[in-house]
Amino acid sequence: MTDCLFCRIVQKQIPATIVEETDQTLAFRDINPRAPVHVLVIPKLHISSLMDLKPNHTAALLAIHQTIQKVAEKEKVDTTGFRVVVNNGKDSGQAVSHIHYHVLGGRRLNWPPG
Ligand code: 5GP
Ligand code: ZN
Repeated sequence: MTDCLFCRIVQKQIPATIVEETDQTLAFRDINPRAPVHVLVIPKLHISSLMDLKPNHTAALLAIHQTIQKVAEKEKVDTTGFRVVVNNGKDSGQAVSHIHYHVLGGRRLNWPPG
């Protein structure tokens, strides 16, 4: 989608610090990091939110999780631990309507989140 910020990052029309890229996914640093490690993992395919996932997204979903593993290893939080967050809809504060998985780590994370 041309009017989607994250589609434009996928298309390299907007710069981002890329951590990992595969044929189906992109991982890049959040512009406003909330933890020492804060990486966003997205499918290259435009999917607006978790509520828009369909059975034909199975491969993309597995690819996202594999990219999260790779990011955790690269960012050296695979053994110390990390959190994966998907904000969904208004009450969660979802600001970008292209599904994205926040990978947060590098410090002790509070629970429950705010
Ligand atoms: P949400 O609030 O939708 O779950 O998360 C959106 C995230 O995207 C926020 O953490 C925000 O800092 C990040 N973000 C917004 N615009 C940009 C951008 O242009 N580049 C990057 N790298 N991150 C962005
Ligand atoms: Zn998009």
